[in-house]
Amino acid sequence: MSAASAPIAERLAAVRAEIGAAAREAGRDPSAVELVVVTKTRTATEIAAAISAGAHLLGENYVQEARRKIPEVEALLPGHGARWHVIGPLQTNKAKYVPGTFAAVESVDRVELADALAKRAAAAGLVLPVLIQVNVGREPQKAGVLPEGLAALLESLAGMASLAIGGLMAIPPECDDPADARPYFRALAESARRLSGRGLLPPAPVLSMGMSHDFAAAIAEGATRVRVGTAIFGPRPTGAEE
Ligand SMILES: *Cc1c(COP(=O)(O)O)cnc(C)c1O
Repeated sequence: MSAASAPIAERLAAVRAEIGAAAREAGRDPSAVELVVVTKTRTATEIAAAISAGAHLLGENYVQEARRKIPEVEALLPGHGARWHVIGPLQTNKAKYVPGTFAAVESVDRVELADALAKRAAAAGLVLPVLIQVNVGREPQKAGVLPEGLAALLESLAGMASLAIGGLMAIPPECDDPADARPYFRALAESARRLSGRGLLPPAPVLSMGMSHDFAAAIAEGATRVRVGTAIFGPRPTGAEE
């Protein structure tokens, strides 16, 4: 491993250890929490370092950026086998780029997008795993279906055979203290439980919640998947935030 990639490997190992500790503290099995390594704004070299250190699930916000970087990463690490998830707002007209490139979409929040993804997945002969993004804090600038619209959205998606709706994803309002995000995480977990009971989500739904500063709080509230960038790669270049 080159000197430049050592910090990424070390930070990834530290994040994994913290995930394990948070799970054990909550009385949960650490292997029940998946890590999505968030690669927005990171170079192919940085991403390859993370994959070499064991990252196998990668999250990208921007489909165009990912389409540029995925072949670069493949050239650096042929046959690496890591899979990519879309985790950011997706324009309906970009759905065509998803099947064959991304293994899952975690940010479905409206019928038109689900419909476009379902058609593309069906045409590609596959079933696309998706999560529904919920705007848990009802923030106008944030993507996601409002909590009160979630059940109706799931009902509209129920007939889309080429989508496998696995669970829910959320980004709570920015909180300086991760403890303040816990009620949002808890609300998402409770929604998922309720919707599972109604048959609108599978029996053990995926809960994708928690980022660099609050993943331990999310795991305490039942996260089965956390999405972490900064804690692994360091601060993002300024001006690169959405
Ligand atoms: C950027 C981003 C993350 C990771 O955020 P960090 O604070 O860098 O860990 C997770 N989820 C989504 C949807 C993001 O856009």
